[in-house]
Amino acid sequence: MYAVSKKTLIIANWKMNLNIQEASLFVHKLNNQISNHRNVELVLAPTMLALPTLSLQVDRKKFSLAAQNLYHQDEGPFTGEVSAHQLRGLVQYALVGHSERRHKFHENDKDIRAKVQAVVRNHIVPILCVGETATEKADGETSGVLHDQITGGLANLTAEDARDIVIAYEPVWAISGGKNFADHKTPTPTEIKRAITTIRKQVEHLFGKEVAESVRVLYGGSSNASNAASLLSVADLDGLLVGGASLNVHEFSDIIAAAHERTT
Ligand code: PEP
Repeated sequence: MYAVSKKTLIIANWKMNLNIQEASLFVHKLNNQISNHRNVELVLAPTMLALPTLSLQVDRKKFSLAAQNLYHQDEGPFTGEVSAHQLRGLVQYALVGHSERRHKFHENDKDIRAKVQAVVRNHIVPILCVGETATEKADGETSGVLHDQITGGLANLTAEDARDIVIAYEPVWAISGGKNFADHKTPTPTEIKRAITTIRKQVEHLFGKEVAESVRVLYGGSSNASNAASLLSVADLDGLLVGGASLNVHEFSDIIAAAHERTT
């Protein structure tokens, strides 16, 4: 089912790390480090503050930008919030439903669904993050959780809207939440493949086979330069969402190189 014509998508989620100057310097170094990655699509999700600077700095043919979060209304009396409408033109992608938003900021499927709609309404591509906790995994609830989070997040979209979206399978227990990414566990290739199949089946149930085949499904959680090639060998996987390891230029360029190797 994996369409070889799709580029491997590698997304850096910098979370609340790197200020504007650091983010800009990082991009400068990364740009010098990576030479040929025509078959890899690279997306950077820096702090919201760095988006205007990076959007002027980056070569759009080499990098796209993503927002880490947004508010679901387009404008109005929502002090401190940033809307998808305001992000339009600055970013091409937006993360929605990241496990840190779900668990630390108590976002539920209704909030996430409203954000996905706001993103799509503003012609930005949503990256919907889904994944089970350690307890849910132990209780054998992984596919039920994926099923519910996909339905909860995407239910209001049309098949046309859903065609280009990205879904990131990020088991909560595999996300490092820090820089010690090498110490953390990742699912086995079989577990990742099973999750991808569950995700595509649910997308097919909601929007039909063609959309299920066209959505890009990524894996995220403690990926690094050492395990990237093995993770990327999972059939039907379209790329990686990288947290901790994307904060080190060398580590991240090695991940990009692994993605490049995969598709050459
Ligand atoms: C993430 O938080 O999206 C993520 C994948 O983090 P890490 O790679 O650090 O586990």
